[in-house]
Amino acid sequence: MKDIPIKNSTINVQGNVQGNVQGNVQGNVQGNVQAGCDEHDPSLLTVEQVHQQLEQLTQPVAAIERVAIRSALGRVLAEDIVSPIDVPPYANSAMDGYALSSTDLKSNTAINLTVIGSSFAGEPFAGNVQAGQCVRIMTGAQIPDGANTVIMQEQVTRNNDVINIGQGHCAGQNVRHPGEDMKKGSVVLTTGKEIGAAELGLLASLGYPEVSVRRKLRVAFFSTGDELRSVGEPLGEGQIYDSNRYTIFGMLKKMGVELIDMGVIRDNEQAIEEAFLDAAEIADAVITSGGVSVGEADFVKLTLDKIGKVDFWRVAMKPGKPLALGKINNALFFGLPGNPVSVMSTFYLFALPALKHMMGQVYQQPISTKAITISEIKKRPGRTDYQRAIAKNENGKLVIDAAGMQASHILSGMSQANCYAVIPKDSGSIPAGQEVDVILFDGLT
Ligand code: AMP
Ligand code: MG
Repeated sequence: MKDIPIKNSTINVQGNVQGNVQGNVQGNVQGNVQAGCDEHDPSLLTVEQVHQQLEQLTQPVAAIERVAIRSALGRVLAEDIVSPIDVPPYANSAMDGYALSSTDLKSNTAINLTVIGSSFAGEPFAGNVQAGQCVRIMTGAQIPDGANTVIMQEQVTRNNDVINIGQGHCAGQNVRHPGEDMKKGSVVLTTGKEIGAAELGLLASLGYPEVSVRRKLRVAFFSTGDELRSVGEPLGEGQIYDSNRYTIFGMLKKMGVELIDMGVIRDNEQAIEEAFLDAAEIADAVITSGGVSVGEADFVKLTLDKIGKVDFWRVAMKPGKPLALGKINNALFFGLPGNPVSVMSTFYLFALPALKHMMGQVYQQPISTKAITISEIKKRPGRTDYQRAIAKNENGKLVIDAAGMQASHILSGMSQANCYAVIPKDSGSIPAGQEVDVILFDGLT
């Protein structure tokens, strides 16, 4: 798409001239939206359709490796985990107190029992608890034979070796049963589960030293554009620093994939073709930014048509409309837009679920929650808008405030924001006090 700047606004030339006023002037022109303008283009793909395509286009990498459980953090299970033991392995006490047989408890009167020994965690009581007897017991200690109930020490009065217990206790109380958490022989984690801190602890509690996981995904990425310079280089006239390679690096790094940074590729047919082919050979997925809008698409498209099967899509979303998706040989190809916010948004919304699918997880669209707006959200009907917003807790309610100017080149707004406010396709502006869908960044951005 060729952008011709006119004063504060921008006209996108796409065969017919379409008024598309961007940035902070957006609100002022909302009344002028014409039928048939860019926002209402029926040929735009919906976000939902992109997800459907991506789910079909991707599958988990086949290779599997066995790793020590700590190395499995952030990886995806390639086997079902069956519990080899009961967890907990034996009945134990949930409290510090006294273990006894419930047959001694009386509903209408207090009782006295004799303390015959102690059961500590790791040092069980060896004997048997008979009628009229009890054992001092600590949290996590094994319930002795003959006992099935624990009375909290705060609910008992002790006099030398005799305790007095009042009425109102229940049989079996304060006892944790074997297998209550995980039963021997049961499937406790399934293939496709991402290993997080809870899963590490769970595997350790089963005694597993290692597990089978999918091999790490290899992702190659590069930026395209003659205007781009790398940090450390001086900026010439009409040049900007390449920031997309850094945001993409940051998001991929947090995903735990193997990174192949291929740098900046110039807007040159041969250089681009070589870069695409090299990347596809060494990586499972190739992510580029820039060069997919209509103005440049003919050139990039020619190359991609020659060497791959790539669709150039225009998605009914904002930011991030132009998007190229497909395959170069066996590698998944994502041609993200060039604008820095569009890059992060399309990565988060599309590349993330697709890559996670390739890593072995089920395909899952981003999860949204509800929040109340505390300022007006400006929007025109036509495309689903992923506005950068700041979610916060206000007296126990999740509320959102706008995060600065909403244009696809305003990366500072992305830094202020911690969520997207998702405003549906056909919705106009949303006043303060309305409930909207929110996708929290979840640490990735
Ligand atoms: P393009 O899609 O290549 O026309 O790029 C759209 C806009 O994004 C232009 O303003 C580019 O200068 C900008 N852009 C493209 N690539 C990058 C990059 N790697 N870092 C920062 N801005 C970029
Ligand atoms: Mg470019």
